[in-house]
Amino acid sequence: MMENIKYDILSLTQGEVEKIVLELGEPKFRAKQIFGWINKGMWGAEMKNVPALLQKKLEDVCEFRLPKVKRRLVSQLDGTVKYLFELIDGEYIESVFMRYEHGNTLCISSQVGCRMGCKFCASTLLGRVRDLTPSEMLGQIIAAEKDTGERISNVVMMGIGEPLDNYDNTIKFLRLVSADEGLNIGLRHISVSTCGLVDKIDRLAEEGLPITLSVSLHAYDNEVRSGIMPVNNKYPIEQLLNACDRYFKRTGRRISFEYTLIGGKNDTVEGACRLASILKKYIHGTCHVNLIPLNEVEETRLETSRNVNNFKNKLVSLGINATVRRRLGSDINASCGQLRRQEKRDE
Ligand code: SAH
Repeated sequence: MMENIKYDILSLTQGEVEKIVLELGEPKFRAKQIFGWINKGMWGAEMKNVPALLQKKLEDVCEFRLPKVKRRLVSQLDGTVKYLFELIDGEYIESVFMRYEHGNTLCISSQVGCRMGCKFCASTLLGRVRDLTPSEMLGQIIAAEKDTGERISNVVMMGIGEPLDNYDNTIKFLRLVSADEGLNIGLRHISVSTCGLVDKIDRLAEEGLPITLSVSLHAYDNEVRSGIMPVNNKYPIEQLLNACDRYFKRTGRRISFEYTLIGGKNDTVEGACRLASILKKYIHGTCHVNLIPLNEVEETRLETSRNVNNFKNKLVSLGINATVRRRLGSDINASCGQLRRQEKRDE
């Protein structure tokens, strides 16, 4: 007998769940109940208002799995929680739960590893193993809500992986996470971070999703950027900034630029002037620069910057909106990729 491949139910929209429910000869309204339960991390007998027979029928055709908490580090400084999750095939990913005044934020992963090769980043050291499914992205949020007992109201896709290199699954995830009967997290409360895949930024602009796009710029010219981000050889700064400007014009959504400050590489005051001038030249609208002091990664030998405030003040004096990212969870290695890397090394 041929083995049936089961539906990965948490990757399905309510409409897709409805189709299964109808195929099983059940009334359509059950889909809404089931979709609600699975998005709370409940399945099988936990779906209390779903008849036992239907619970059983669903288990025959669908699989439901959440990422398993493999390790959990809690910051003594600010309560930030870092998760190492284990997936069904034994791979690891990371998520970080942070408490802000505007609500709890979860930073999630989009791939197992990454193939973008940024020189300062721990996630890419071993390359990319595979993409995450929509349910594995959603599952990080559900598992963290279950573990903390708290609601997550904001999501940033700044964990392991390049979300736009896993484009279709990322888009489906964004539609699922914002669904009314599901987690119902507003798209305006979600940031997608990219190293700058220009073709995908143009595609994203057409999706009608009012997320915040964060672009990892990290440099003020092509020489510096290509030196730390191989993606710049394919999509140089001018092309990237033009795409950002098109994105802003098409969506009306202000772009947020991330700029990791690396000692002696991209952090001089003159660099700040040059950054201000390219942003003014290419971006016709407002933007925001988020400065991130480098989190040092042992293998890279790059050092953090001692010039963070001077760099910021220069940008601000030139009329660029800039802030320095608060460092949450600095005592637990909260910057992404480091825990997975450690776990792999220990094994
Ligand atoms: N691939 C996406 C999202 C993941 S990285 C991207 O490139 O944007 C999220 C952010 O953290 C990016 O801006 C990335 O460049 C930055 N980052 C990666 N490693 C870092 C480190 N060691 N210190 C500081 N920032 C880092």
